[in-house]
Amino acid sequence: MSPTDSVLQVRGLSKSFGANTVLRGIDLDVPRGKVVALIGPSGSGKTTILRSLNGLELPDAGSVTVGASGGTSTGVEPQRPSLTLDFDAKVSPKEVAALRDRSAMVFQHYNLFPHMTVLQNVIEGPVRVQKRPRAEVVAEADALLKRVGLFEKRDSYPFELSGGQQQRVGIVRALALKPQLLLFDEPTSALDPELVDDVLAVIKELADEGWTMVIVTHELAFARQTADEVVFMDGGVVVERGPASQVLRKPQEERTQQFIRRLL
Ligand code: ADP
Repeated sequence: MSPTDSVLQVRGLSKSFGANTVLRGIDLDVPRGKVVALIGPSGSGKTTILRSLNGLELPDAGSVTVGASGGTSTGVEPQRPSLTLDFDAKVSPKEVAALRDRSAMVFQHYNLFPHMTVLQNVIEGPVRVQKRPRAEVVAEADALLKRVGLFEKRDSYPFELSGGQQQRVGIVRALALKPQLLLFDEPTSALDPELVDDVLAVIKELADEGWTMVIVTHELAFARQTADEVVFMDGGVVVERGPASQVLRKPQEERTQQFIRRLL
């Protein structure tokens, strides 16, 4: 892989909360248009990585580069100049805001604004934060809502929707930001089992379309179908990584084997 084809490069990312060291020098590469699934036991640091990529946590050390320019566009995400944040130095709030603007997060508990309609939830970021013209953003939001079968719900409030519908709105809200990188934090783990498949189908469709994604998930069958690479973490380090079929079917490391056996 040439470095210009990489949408995300993480080097030596470290983070402690007080005395609790959560990330111990994480390296991660996500090539353009590829999907990386992060798996591992609860507390291994997966969410902290995603939050660091989205500017919601400030790592103590390491660097994050998003959106290397050049390479072959998959056509779905905007090409933008590369942005590197070096956490060994002091990063400014402006740099953190720029990092946040490159990626969009889909949360486990959807995190929709309860007092806003579906449409308002979707257009809030693009209009207020990105300062894009409202009419243009509404037209894009409507098209995205149609795509996931929720156009009829555009004027409903989150409490009027099922969990699966709320999460599809969460995905549309992320897409409306036109990010270079989509981050999913256990997007189906709060859903009733019968609602999981609809949400996974939308994510799979986006992967097939060429979006670059990092997905934290416990759905191993889904990871096998959707991810190009699987990264297994434990205790704040990457224990094993490789093609999804290899890591999930023939893990090399004892810790990975134990983890996968428990989930199957
Ligand atoms: P995972 O996503 O793999 O379950 P997390 O990244 O959520 O792991 O958490 C890793 C560790 O970091 C846990 O021990 C958790 O308690 C701790 N942690 C996460 N966020 C915070 C925070 N804001 N303050 C203090 N500790 C935190």
